[in-house]
Amino acid sequence: MPDVLLGQAYYLRFDPKLHQAQQPYAPLGTLYAAAFLRQRGHRVALFDAMLARSVADWTTALQHHQPRLAAIYEDSFNYLSKMCLLRMREAAFEMIDRARAVRVPVVVSGSDATDHPELYLRRGAAAVILGEGELTLAELAERLLAGSTIDAVPGIAYLDDTCALHRTAPRPFIKSLDELPFPAWDLVDTNRYREIWHARHGYYSMNIATTRGCPYHCNWCAKPIYGQRYAMRAAKAVVEEIAWLKHHFAPDHLWIVDDVFGLKPGWVEEFAALLNEQGAQIPFRCLMRADQVTPAVARALASAGCRMLWMGAESGSQKVLDAMEKGLRVDDIRAANRALQAHGINVGVFLQFGYPGETWEDIEATLQLARELKPADIGVSVSYPLPGTGFYERVRQELGVKQNWIDSSDLSTMYKATYAPAVYRRVHGLVHHEFRARKSADALSAMLRAPWQLRPVHARRAASWFYNRAALALMRRHVSQLRIESSC
Ligand code: SF4
Repeated sequence: MPDVLLGQAYYLRFDPKLHQAQQPYAPLGTLYAAAFLRQRGHRVALFDAMLARSVADWTTALQHHQPRLAAIYEDSFNYLSKMCLLRMREAAFEMIDRARAVRVPVVVSGSDATDHPELYLRRGAAAVILGEGELTLAELAERLLAGSTIDAVPGIAYLDDTCALHRTAPRPFIKSLDELPFPAWDLVDTNRYREIWHARHGYYSMNIATTRGCPYHCNWCAKPIYGQRYAMRAAKAVVEEIAWLKHHFAPDHLWIVDDVFGLKPGWVEEFAALLNEQGAQIPFRCLMRADQVTPAVARALASAGCRMLWMGAESGSQKVLDAMEKGLRVDDIRAANRALQAHGINVGVFLQFGYPGETWEDIEATLQLARELKPADIGVSVSYPLPGTGFYERVRQELGVKQNWIDSSDLSTMYKATYAPAVYRRVHGLVHHEFRARKSADALSAMLRAPWQLRPVHARRAASWFYNRAALALMRRHVSQLRIESSC
């Protein structure tokens, strides 16, 4: 019987868009917490909501493991947990109810709970962990399992006997990430993940973290868990973990989940050299700032096995980037794109629409940038006011009852943007359509260059090209009509 049952409330099935995409990753942050508790002598079990059908599976896990303590510990490396999707908050509340129904105390850790601890405490959580969780969870577990009081534990919120809310002193960040044990992968049903990935994509991808936090100040980006600091693991330690993953699970691909990968000068080059020395490369994708991607870094990334690099381009308008305090020039994005493509690395770009003050000309500049970069993939969103950010404070008075998206396809602007939400949804569709039209045009021209290699799949691509061309014209007309109506 475990002391602690750890679970998270991000249920892939509750997020239709991502469930459809079928690219599940195990809850890495939760696995770090599990490994840390074990290192402190606790027996742990894992409930993995990513693979679960519903909250009923959590009830089954509670009955099966009969833990003495439950921890709803969100995977803070999953960017969707930062968005505090309402469907997942509801799931967390139900999980609290079900643990309490069998008299198991619950503690909660995550972005939403850190931002709104009172909601979780009033629902019945014994404590909410504020910020980075491992040290606080271990101390809470020791005290709760021993029946001691928790009011002296740093880094938590709790309700006292009169139901008044208290926050204890902040918990200092973990100084050296290299002292943390590897995530507790043995608790995960890796075979199930492998099956899902293989069935849909033909390969198996796992996740790994090399840093925590980010020192930049983009004013819409929240960092409630890992903060404004930037902590990096030693390149040697990361290479050891990759070699360990390769030996035990043989993944075909890795997703490096860092908000900003490889910021320290020389780190990427050292990482690439060590990987080559040990023959431990696994093709990977990661996320970097465009202004960090020099030609030398691009070369090192390619030699380390980077197949895809995502950049937060956000906007093609310098005015909007400056308003976001992104600290980036549009030309940085172009230069990084050139350097990466020159080394055979696919580029993915995140684009964002609806930032306050963005005009139609700014939107056009972003559409134009997406056409010019010819990325291998795109991620399109609308600006989302996250608590604790300058952007949130700026639009706070405009927020109504709805302050969170329900799931990741929601795309509501919850403040007064330049245009109505329907316009941004259409622009979102338009960017994706343009992207698909370009991809099918590329496929078509490759096909025409080598007609002797024609297969049935090429006929489908050709049909898709004609369809996308026709749909694109209609879509552009519709967006412009909606924009005019929305401005009236
Ligand atoms: S958007 Fe990226 S670079 Fe900017 S603060 Fe957030 S994590 Fe850092």
